[in-house]
Amino acid sequence: MSLRFSGAQLLCKNKCGFYGNESWDGYCSLCFKRAKREEHKKEENSKSESPKSTSWFDFSEISLFGEKRKARLSLTSAFSSGSGSSSSRSPEAEPTPKADLISRQLLTLVDKQSFDFVAKTKKKNFTPEEFGDFITSFYDALAEAIRTKEDDDETISLCMDRAEANITSEIYQKLFAQEEDEAADIDLQRKIRALHWIGPAMVGAKLDRGLPEVKLLIDDAVTNFLQTNSSELPREKLEHLSAACDCIMQSLSISTSSSPSADDLLPALIFLLLHTNPPLFKSNLALIRRLSQPENLRSGKLAYHYCSICSAVGFIERGITEAELNLTKRQFEQFQKSEARPPTALMDFDFTTMRKTSRIVDIFDVDDDEVSSPALERLRHLKLQNEEFFSKAKKIKEELTSFSMHVQKEVSEISEKYSIAPDEQSENPQ
Ligand SMILES: [Zn+2]
Repeated sequence: MSLRFSGAQLLCKNKCGFYGNESWDGYCSLCFKRAKREEHKKEENSKSESPKSTSWFDFSEISLFGEKRKARLSLTSAFSSGSGSSSSRSPEAEPTPKADLISRQLLTLVDKQSFDFVAKTKKKNFTPEEFGDFITSFYDALAEAIRTKEDDDETISLCMDRAEANITSEIYQKLFAQEEDEAADIDLQRKIRALHWIGPAMVGAKLDRGLPEVKLLIDDAVTNFLQTNSSELPREKLEHLSAACDCIMQSLSISTSSSPSADDLLPALIFLLLHTNPPLFKSNLALIRRLSQPENLRSGKLAYHYCSICSAVGFIERGITEAELNLTKRQFEQFQKSEARPPTALMDFDFTTMRKTSRIVDIFDVDDDEVSSPALERLRHLKLQNEEFFSKAKKIKEELTSFSMHVQKEVSEISEKYSIAPDEQSENPQ
């Protein structure tokens, strides 16, 4: 058994084409919401005595992309309620230079609706995850509202960035590093600490740490992982995570002299996490999930990188076993207790040999797409050595046979030449 990954695992399990996330049961945010709504409906149907919704959030209030007309109607009601009290409030967020591209009318709409939304959340008593769902619904509804006035995608995305900045400054504290997240942070850090001895090759990460260029890129990736915690905006956090992934993809490509695939990224991310052990990492991932504009987590590069990282974290959280690392239980325990260090041959791939074969897949004579493991490589190496040994042994055996035949021949020639007759007396004593 070894670590094996497929990029397909990252997609929403509803096969809608968006990226999924473990925290949404493997769905994307849209399908998760839909699934939850279905579940909610079923529950409502079974509770025949209570027809009124007692749920924390009525999903019919803000509808999804498919039902535009209804969405617009519900939007008007959702945003007009309670607006009287907060309409005089001026937006606190500094307008960005990019905001010049957005019309005054749109700016007012975005700011007003963001701050009305923030005001609404103050009355609710949500768990962080419920809060996150509520925020996603707000963004979806806001995007719909903007689309009725503007169809340029770039302008819409600028408006959404502004809304994100508006609500982040107001509700960041409520959504970041809550009790549960902090427990998850500590748990992840503890698990990583126990695996600090793992080398890239042990998890199948094709990173050549011997190359200075690769080393620098790994350092950059580490810095980006750490900076995720120092930026506040979910978008900035996402960009740092994505930059880390870019560095890793680049170092994979330099290490293997080929273009890496999604299946190469995951093991390399697992190694990066083990190597960095970033603080408050689960809290940051959770904050991004709760507070990001949903579009950034559904499709595109940011979403792909975010969900790859979540998947790598999930892998470590579930616990990496000795079998997955091709180690014996005893070895695993020794390495964990720092009683022994894994040999270099196990820690890093032999890239010099790999590069000699021009393409990295050439030495893995399995499928091109399959990720090899250090153990598999060692086996192949052993097999080669074995074959060499046997061919040498065969040769020696042949040489020995010919040698002994040669000696026999010489002995008989000599004895014939000198015709030494056997001593009869000594053969039959007395
Ligand atoms: Zn989906």
